[in-house]
Amino acid sequence: MQIYNQITRTKEEFVPLTPGKVKIYACGPTVYNYFHIGNARAFLFFDVLRRYFEWRGYDVEYVQNITDIDDRIIGQSIDEGIPFSEVAAKYSCAFLEDSAALGIKAPTHQPKATEVMDEIIALIDALVQKGYAYEVEGDVCFDTAALPEYGSLSGKKTEDQLAGARVDENFQKRHPADFTLWKHSKPGEPVWPSPWGEGRPGWHTECVVMSRKYLGDTFDIHGGGIDLIFPHHENELAQARALTGKPLANYWIHNGFLNIDGEKMSKSLKNFFTARDILREHSAEAVRFFFLSKHYRSPIDFNREIIEESERAVNNFYSALKSIGFQNVSAIPDDTYFPQKEAFIQAMDDDLNSAKAIAVLFDLARNVKNEQLPRPQREQAALLLVQLGGVLGFFQNLACLEEATLPDLSRQLIELLVRYRQEARNNKNWALSDAIRDDLAALGIELNDTPGGCNWKHKE
Ligand code: AMP
Ligand code: ZN
Repeated sequence: MQIYNQITRTKEEFVPLTPGKVKIYACGPTVYNYFHIGNARAFLFFDVLRRYFEWRGYDVEYVQNITDIDDRIIGQSIDEGIPFSEVAAKYSCAFLEDSAALGIKAPTHQPKATEVMDEIIALIDALVQKGYAYEVEGDVCFDTAALPEYGSLSGKKTEDQLAGARVDENFQKRHPADFTLWKHSKPGEPVWPSPWGEGRPGWHTECVVMSRKYLGDTFDIHGGGIDLIFPHHENELAQARALTGKPLANYWIHNGFLNIDGEKMSKSLKNFFTARDILREHSAEAVRFFFLSKHYRSPIDFNREIIEESERAVNNFYSALKSIGFQNVSAIPDDTYFPQKEAFIQAMDDDLNSAKAIAVLFDLARNVKNEQLPRPQREQAALLLVQLGGVLGFFQNLACLEEATLPDLSRQLIELLVRYRQEARNNKNWALSDAIRDDLAALGIELNDTPGGCNWKHKE
């Protein structure tokens, strides 16, 4: 498998540290608000990376952190008039709900920064002892000049590093690129005791501690969106190098941006749509399809028409499966479609080319629908379509396939009522939403509310 590695800026053969095992750390959200659909691109991509490795038989350990202490969380707690810990708890919960609604599998470990405060302080202390960090009036800074290879991940030269230096940080830094490991507290801010006085950790230190805690000194893959290459990942790498002399990760992988009108979608530019809002209008599979139809490193423009097209494409896959009554397929997978399976693997092995992998799914769906083909062959294509689709997180909504025997209009009417009931729930009109549920139940249709939306089925 070839993977683009930011450290070498080339596609390289992926060789795990331990045969058969992959250890991945992807930076998770800073929980000060609902996450936007640009963040969703990063979360979905790493979900697919993990699913693909699992399907190829690797034992995957996947860590995604939650940053639950940060300037922006403190800012939001002032705006909402609630303690910072409540802001973090509220949006961590929302993050978990929305991730599940997007069909993202729960990571193996999901640590929060505030849970590892002792380890954070110990790591900073070790860097001070080793001469890689220094204290200035209650702040502790990393001394970038002490680490000759500083800048190797981003390739930034010293003068460029100035651009990453935040103006509001400590003025007494020895070098503008030096970054803060520990910040002294300002009045009213959340604090933890430390050898340098009360304060809180910097973001770059949080992630290096959480990744090492679960995955060790060096693990296989570290990733996030491209905005994290510098300074965040550069600074994580620097701390680990200084501490152990070893690389933190062997491969550094970054997804491209979701843009809107040519600009990165971001909270600060206020040009975002939350994943939660998008999922009110589009299905999770359509959003996934929209992203995976492009290579993960290419920029993507947010475009509702294309998401709607994606919705139609996903529906067409489901209707291909329904056309053959997939629920009743009794075939055992054989090698009829070996070339397609190989093509799928080849695409994904080429730096996770999900766009090409999706082309294979289209090919299989054409075979499923092709009434000229013998049924066993169509069934084989359907089996493989569901298996390979599942690797990308598609076609797992079996309720969609169950009602294949219903006349189409009944199905559409039920779905219409389910949508209206969702609208009623969004408006907290519980009386109406309960009435719809009861009336459908009387007709033998059972509703099941899940974090991914409402499923329905015929009562047994
Ligand atoms: P944050 O909560 O800002 O730390 O971001 C969480 C993840 O989303 C990180 O991996 C970011 O790199 C990624 N991300 C943020 N904005 C975008 C965007 N517009 N497109 C793709 N990924 C993004
Ligand atoms: Zn991080």
